[in-house]
Amino acid sequence: GCEEVQKALEDELDKQDLTDEINIVETGCHGLCEKGPVMVIYPEGIFYCELQPEDMEELVTEHILKDRIVDRLLYKEPITEEDIPSYQNIDFYEKQQRVVLSNCGRVDPESIKEYIAEDGYQAVGETLTTMTSQEVIDEVKEAGLRGRGGGGFPTGIKWQFAHDSEDDKKYIICNADEGDPGAFMDRSILEGDPHRVIEGMIIAAYAIGASEGYIYVRAEYPLAIERLEKAIEQAEEYGLLGDNLFESGFDFKLQIKKGAGAFVCGEETALMNSIEGKRGMPRPRPPFPAQKGLWGYPSNINNVETYANVPVIINQGADEYSKVGTEDSTGTKIFAITGKIQNTGLAEVPMGITMREIIYDVGGGIMGGKDFKAVQIGGPSGGCLPEEKLDLSVDYDSLIEAGAMMGSGGLVVMDEDTCMVDVAKFFLDFTQSESCGKCTPCREGTKRMLEILKRITAGEGKEGDIELLEELSHHIKSTSLCGLGQSAPNPVLSTIQYFRDEYEAHIYEET
Ligand code: SF4
Repeated sequence: GCEEVQKALEDELDKQDLTDEINIVETGCHGLCEKGPVMVIYPEGIFYCELQPEDMEELVTEHILKDRIVDRLLYKEPITEEDIPSYQNIDFYEKQQRVVLSNCGRVDPESIKEYIAEDGYQAVGETLTTMTSQEVIDEVKEAGLRGRGGGGFPTGIKWQFAHDSEDDKKYIICNADEGDPGAFMDRSILEGDPHRVIEGMIIAAYAIGASEGYIYVRAEYPLAIERLEKAIEQAEEYGLLGDNLFESGFDFKLQIKKGAGAFVCGEETALMNSIEGKRGMPRPRPPFPAQKGLWGYPSNINNVETYANVPVIINQGADEYSKVGTEDSTGTKIFAITGKIQNTGLAEVPMGITMREIIYDVGGGIMGGKDFKAVQIGGPSGGCLPEEKLDLSVDYDSLIEAGAMMGSGGLVVMDEDTCMVDVAKFFLDFTQSESCGKCTPCREGTKRMLEILKRITAGEGKEGDIELLEELSHHIKSTSLCGLGQSAPNPVLSTIQYFRDEYEAHIYEET
C-alpha cells in the first residue's frame, strides 16, 4: 500500500503548496512489516505506521503545518512527551543493532550521493589505496566474519583459497538467489542499500584478484534488480567500477544474472552452472570453486549479507567489528521473522542474543496471546526448536548443536495449535520438489520420506514409520551430493527429536 500512500501525500503537499518545502524520500524497508506502510518525518524522527491514503490530509495539516503530532497514527499512544515513538523507543528496534541495515529505511537507495554521504565507498577507497590484497584478507579473517548464507564458513579463509589459486582470470559472485520460504533478508538489503553490496564485492574482488563479477539474483525480485542496475550504472559513472580503479591498476566489472527461481541454484556449483547457461545442477567437489569455478576459473561466492558486512569491517577495523557477537560468531545477523508472531518483520540483532529475546522482545511474542510451541530456524535446511531451547544463544555453533542451523536467516514461529508433523511435511515437500534429481539418495529418498509423512498425517501411519524416517534421514544426509539433500531431512529429524509424541499420537491414536 506504500505507493498509494505516497501518491496521496504528494497530492496533499501539492494542494497545500508545500511541494518545494518537503522532500519525500522513498527508502528501503524499515523492517517493521507488520505495521506498514510506515513513514518517518524528519527532523523530529516521528514514526507513523499503518498509514492509509486518507490519513495524508490530517498528517500534512496537523504535523507539517501545525507541528502537532497525530497520536492515532503512532506506533502506540504516548503517555509522556518523551514517549512519542521514534526509532529509539519502539520496542521492535530496542534490542536490534542495525549495522548492515543502517541505511535501509533512511537513505534513497537510488542515489549514490546519499550512500557516499553515509561514508559509502570509503572502504573501497581505503582498501585500494592503502592495503594489499593479503592485508584485506587478514582483516576479514581477524574480524571473524562467517558466511551469512548457510553453513557459516569463515569468509576470510574462503577468500584465501581463491587468492592462492593462480590463474590469469578469476571471478567473484554474489549469491542473491534467496529461496527459503519466509525469507526476505537479501531482498531487503538489495532494495534498501544496493551500493553496500557492490562495495563489498569490489573489496572481495580486489582481495582475491578477480576482474569480473556476477550478481545472481532471482528474477522474482524485480525491484531489487531495478535498483541494482541503477546502482551499477552510478558506480560506473563515479569511477568505482571499470579499469584502473583509484589508479591502483585494479580493474573490475560487474553484471547481473537473473535466476529463474530454482532453490537448488542457491548451491554454489549449481549457481555457476546456471550462469554458464547450463541446467542448474550441483557439480561434484573437488575441484572446489576456489580452484575451478565459473567457466573453469577460480571463483569466490558469498551471499548478499556477507558482502554487505565487508565495508563495515574495513571502516570499523576488525577489532571493533568483532566486539559485537560471540567469540566464534562475530557481528550481527539479519532475521526474517514470520509465522504466528506479533511483529512480522526484518530484524538485525547481535549474534549471541537468545531466541527468547528475538521472539518476545523484538517480535513482540505470539499472536493472539497463544503459547509458543516451536521455531523453525534456517529454512528448509534448518530445524525446529522447542520451548526449552528458547534461552539458547543464537550463534552458528549452538544452533548446530541443538539440531538446527543459522541458514540464511528465515525464522518461522509456531504456536500451540501447530502440528509439528505437518510442519516437517511442509518443509520436506518443498525440498523434495526442489531436488534437482541428480543423485539417488536425495531424488528417491526424500520422495519416500514424504510418502511416509503423508501417510502419518492422514492417520494411516504404522509402527516402525518413525524409525524408518530416521534411517532414511541418516542415509540421505550422509550420501547426497549437495547441501540440499544433505540438509533436507533436518526438519524431520528435529521434529522427531523434540516432538516425537506428536508423531506417536498420529500413528497410535488415530489408527
Ligand atoms: Fe540434486 Fe538433491 Fe543430489 Fe543436490 S542432493 S545434487 S539437489 S539430487
